[in-house]
Amino acid sequence: MREHFEIRDTDAAGRIGELTVPRAGTTVETPALLPVINPNLDTISPRRLADEFGAEILITNSYIIHGTEDVRERALSEGLHEMLDFPGAIMTDSGSFQLSEYGEISVTTEEILEFQHAIGSDIGTPVDIPTPPDVSREQAEAELETTQERLELAETVETGDMLVTAPVQGSTYPDLREKAARHADATALDVFPVGAVVPLMNDYRYDDMVDAVAAAKRGLGGDAPVHLFGAGHPMMFALGVALGCDLFDSAAYALYARDDRYLTVRGTRHLEDLDYLPCSCPVCTEFSPDELRALDDQRRETELAAHNLHVTFEELRRIKQAIREGNLLELVDQRARAHPTMLDGYRTLLEYTDQLEADDPVSKGSFFSTSHESARRPEVARHHDRLERLSVPDSLFLTEGSPTRSDEFDACWRVEPPFGPFPRALSKTYPLTAEVPDRTDRAALEAAADGVTRLAEANPGTEITLGHRDWPAAVLATLPDGVSLVDLTGE
Ligand SMILES: [Zn+2]
Repeated sequence: MREHFEIRDTDAAGRIGELTVPRAGTTVETPALLPVINPNLDTISPRRLADEFGAEILITNSYIIHGTEDVRERALSEGLHEMLDFPGAIMTDSGSFQLSEYGEISVTTEEILEFQHAIGSDIGTPVDIPTPPDVSREQAEAELETTQERLELAETVETGDMLVTAPVQGSTYPDLREKAARHADATALDVFPVGAVVPLMNDYRYDDMVDAVAAAKRGLGGDAPVHLFGAGHPMMFALGVALGCDLFDSAAYALYARDDRYLTVRGTRHLEDLDYLPCSCPVCTEFSPDELRALDDQRRETELAAHNLHVTFEELRRIKQAIREGNLLELVDQRARAHPTMLDGYRTLLEYTDQLEADDPVSKGSFFSTSHESARRPEVARHHDRLERLSVPDSLFLTEGSPTRSDEFDACWRVEPPFGPFPRALSKTYPLTAEVPDRTDRAALEAAADGVTRLAEANPGTEITLGHRDWPAAVLATLPDGVSLVDLTGE
């Protein structure tokens, strides 16, 4: 049991949690965003991040601090909190990113962890090997072995009450990711970044990202706080949270601002192309696009970075509220419409229904069936599992219409796409209170037919008749032969 992470609320595999950071004497509510601070460049000051944006935690790079003499000396003498003037928790990266970019770095895990501790970091990071996607299995395995040795070493370094991360690598091999996660979870380390997914996101490979994170989650305990390392675009936070990620870091807000890119939850826009600002943050209220374009470079960069942060924090608040209301997957569904590759990510997420279902609350506010993908949500799968456990009479009429045949059958159940059949007594229970469109789509009918099949297969002795309204022949053909059919169209 990890005492420093407590889960308060869940929806799909997403959760609202509290990460206790003992060295900072604070708790951080998750999902949390860690703005990335480059100690040599101050686009938005850490004080402003805390006061104006409500940032409870940030991340900076101890390797850059270590390698810049005057900054290093200041960090050692004043401590990170005073040097950056930040009242919240501070996490530090180790130079692993530089290692992946430049091939070598000049510190060891012990040195950098001791340095992070010496400068007052609250969450430190060992030097893992961020193995990129698509390398050979041999390379992924060999580098993973090195990462695992470093994690074991990190456990032995004297770091007081600084939390220490255990990055999960394994490239694009889900079995290696899962194994890496199991190993990391078994260490005494505290926070679990899923590493080296940035190249996947840069290439819009959200499906592969979901596979990597889902594999890591399978190997980690439910009480492990998970950091999706390098994921800073608000467009994909809902997807990341629904997968069970708790921490996100954003360098994007500042990097994108530097070349006039404007973040939205539906993707990135270039300031040059904007005739209107689709946002009500203080920046977008104060300036028109022309006025922003007319600012000098430095001011424009600062204003765009502020806007980028506003939308980023706003999206996290929206996600937390969605978890509270139990409609996180509806938000993911909406965000997935931002880009076809995001839809691939969402569809891949729905392939892990079992994983999502494990943490998903049994009862929530309401289920809105709003897309083709809604038919694959964990609530539908859970209902199908439940069908196998319901007791049934000898003859059963399943109907999309009114219960008009009580004289012919022992019982009459409703059929509602995408769930399929259920006894009328359950009509008022979640998720069967769902709001569904009148114009049913094919995926919902197929899911309903799957439900009928599950019920029929679990009860071979029951005579089942399905009263449907003009279901396509191909959908009806998926039903077992024993199910009789009545077309209710016109009744
Ligand atoms: Zn704005």
